[in-house]
Amino acid sequence: MTDRYAVIGNPIEQSKSPLIHTAFAQVTGQDIEYTKLLAPLGGFAAVVDTFRASGGRGMNVTAPFKLDAFAYATHLAPSAQMAGAVNAMKFEGDKVYAENFDGVGLVRDLVHNLNCPVQGRRVLILGAGGATRGALLPLLVEQPAELVIVNRTVAKAQELVELARIHQSGSVPVRGIGYTDLSDQSFDLVLNATSASLAAQLPPLWASVFAPGCLAYDLTYGKGLTPFLQLAKQADVTRLADGVGMLAEQAAEAFAWWRGVRPDTRNVIEQLTVPLI
Ligand code: NDP
Repeated sequence: MTDRYAVIGNPIEQSKSPLIHTAFAQVTGQDIEYTKLLAPLGGFAAVVDTFRASGGRGMNVTAPFKLDAFAYATHLAPSAQMAGAVNAMKFEGDKVYAENFDGVGLVRDLVHNLNCPVQGRRVLILGAGGATRGALLPLLVEQPAELVIVNRTVAKAQELVELARIHQSGSVPVRGIGYTDLSDQSFDLVLNATSASLAAQLPPLWASVFAPGCLAYDLTYGKGLTPFLQLAKQADVTRLADGVGMLAEQAAEAFAWWRGVRPDTRNVIEQLTVPLI
């Protein structure tokens, strides 16, 4: 029998998840159907209830419902607890298992696809929203030399430093600062986890943050050369990437969790890549 999965969001038309999971199912020979579900704001639980009642096995969750899914879940994995948000659910009877694979997807993309180990690197992450929160622990597990979180609202960056202090078992120095505190510091890995690129905006950043040989990575995907990547390019950074690999890797993690087989992501990444020009 065909097992049913879906991605839920509002809006949802733009979601690439059905394309990704259908491709994964084809290459792994899994019999699944994967659709998009539009839920009205405030109507998350009702739509999920109906999907489960009709035999749905699992869901990906996208904006703005990652916190609703957190509240809906009965069993939260540590990744979801740390992120305070859920991006994948698995339904078994009355149990709702919940995960957040965004952070692990980012790290897999950096380390395996882009061949950019995090260990020993000076890492700067821009933004202190849901994506940074989810990425925090997976990045720290890799043992960077330091992790600096810079945010417009400095208090949010500092909250995440406190969260890291409570959860990390290692001793990676973590700092939360404002953009004006960056002064002349430079980093080996600069991750743009703000939503600025979605509005074609640039966080208030100086080109001096990019150390020689640095990788500039914009978590936003499908936008080509964003203002952030443009700044990096103008600063002679040659290693530029967007979040398409992270998207594919978090999907592969969810697929493996649901189906017990991890698909190769290369074809999907190739298919969804928008040239950074
Ligand atoms: P949130 O809304 O939770 O957080 C947004 C962050 O961006 C906040 O820290 C905010 O700062 C900051 N910000 C927004 N506009 C600007 C600006 N013009 N200048 C400086 N900072 C700004 O978003 P998420 O964390 O959920 O998502 C962030 C990005 O990551 C999005 O573009 C999203 O598409 C992408 N993403 C990609 C994924 C992938 O698989 N590739 C997965 C998840 C997210 P402040 O706190 O001061 O308001």
